[in-house]
Amino acid sequence: MRPILLFLFSFLAFSSNVELNAQCIVKQTGDPNFDMEKFRAFQQNRATQRNNKIINVAITIHIVETVVGAANIEIPTLYNELDAINRFFRPAGFQFFFCGTPRFIQGKGIYTYNEAENEIHNFEFVPNTINIYYLDEIGDQQLSQFAGGISTFPWDDELNTRFIIMQKAASNGSGGILAHEIGHFFGLWHTHTPFNGREFVNGTNCSTAGDLVCDTPADPNLGATGTNGCTYESNFVDANGDAYSPDPSNIMSYAPSRCLRRFSPGQNDRMNFYYETTDLSEIIQDCDFYPDYAITSASNQMDITSGQTLELTYNFDNQGINEDQEIEIFWKLAQEGEVELTIQKDTLKLAAGSGNITETFRIEFPISKGTGAYTLTAVLDPDSKILERDKRNNFHAIDLTVNNDQFEDVVLFPNPVQNRLKVFVRDRSKGGEIRLQISDYLGRLYTNEKKFKNDDEFFAELDVDFLPQGLYILNVYYVRDEISTSFLFLKE
Ligand SMILES: [Zn+2]
Repeated sequence: MRPILLFLFSFLAFSSNVELNAQCIVKQTGDPNFDMEKFRAFQQNRATQRNNKIINVAITIHIVETVVGAANIEIPTLYNELDAINRFFRPAGFQFFFCGTPRFIQGKGIYTYNEAENEIHNFEFVPNTINIYYLDEIGDQQLSQFAGGISTFPWDDELNTRFIIMQKAASNGSGGILAHEIGHFFGLWHTHTPFNGREFVNGTNCSTAGDLVCDTPADPNLGATGTNGCTYESNFVDANGDAYSPDPSNIMSYAPSRCLRRFSPGQNDRMNFYYETTDLSEIIQDCDFYPDYAITSASNQMDITSGQTLELTYNFDNQGINEDQEIEIFWKLAQEGEVELTIQKDTLKLAAGSGNITETFRIEFPISKGTGAYTLTAVLDPDSKILERDKRNNFHAIDLTVNNDQFEDVVLFPNPVQNRLKVFVRDRSKGGEIRLQISDYLGRLYTNEKKFKNDDEFFAELDVDFLPQGLYILNVYYVRDEISTSFLFLKE
């Protein structure tokens, strides 16, 4: 039997905010074994107990890239999605976790669900986990809409043949679409589904029609009726003439994705019923067999000056490594509103087994970055080359406050210097082209670099490695103002 495909469609605005809405194209078949009496008995006898006990549920994340490095989705965004769905599923007693860090697969930019099954899932799936494939684009689509995600029901085939595909652009960290697809995976219908017959507003047929969950109000399909923000304001009536009053916050509705934030108690019970009575209960509850790496530090905030060399001490914790390993560590500098910059790279050697080491690194804060607030983040395994238990403990951020007020208006350092001479100039009155000229006492010119000073603070770095040892003169010459200032420095 082919899996039932549940498409969740989203309109893609050409911005970072993706709105979910609209049509579901479904090749639906019902659960041939569903027994309402058994479900009722479960609700009365087991449901509360079940909801109150947290069960861990393993997810394997696969990111499909058309070329290496073209992930088109940020790993922190995936963890934000995880945190969001865990808020939504908490009342149902489910806690999801990533079974190992997200994996990267090379593949096409677009797949249908069937293609994803034959070309990816059959080769890549991690047994007894919920395998989720993030695609650039989903091929099963109609009109001008894009599918946000596709899932299957627990009565389709077997656990290890079922999976979820997600469109990368539909994942913004709010978790609405992902929670919706997992809702299907755990046996939930759309709140508006006509598959079992239309549910009446008065609820009289709620156990045989609609989503078969009685505490979700009848829903005319919010993707078709539209909402005003997250409020339903239309006047549709059911077959009895009763006006609909649907719930746009329900995750299994077709309200815009940002409105989706809750399951009803009846939906929680239904998901737990399927968890307990199907192979969903075979999903593994921990993935501690993977190694894990973590970085921590006592430093969280520092006041520094531009060009300063920072001595930073980190603590590295590793668990369950099979053999000695080298792991990359990058330092990334971010200033608010600007692109993150990798300012230093190093490698860490870790011994097999589990352990804890402390290392100090010398990180040079770029002379070119002036007064302001920055975040310096040390990242372990920045390119995710190692499959490990958790990625979130691979980051340590330090808030840096750079204040160059204590500098003289013109500073050369270090002095004496070996290879790179740094120059700092602060002068509000002078600007434009600057010449940095290095000469010796006999007037021989070694360097004549043209720079531009656009801000109050000006920084430059000069290569002096080639100079013989001795005393030199740096001349800072403002071309427009025809003014120059000279400084002595010692080359070692
Ligand atoms: Zn759906």
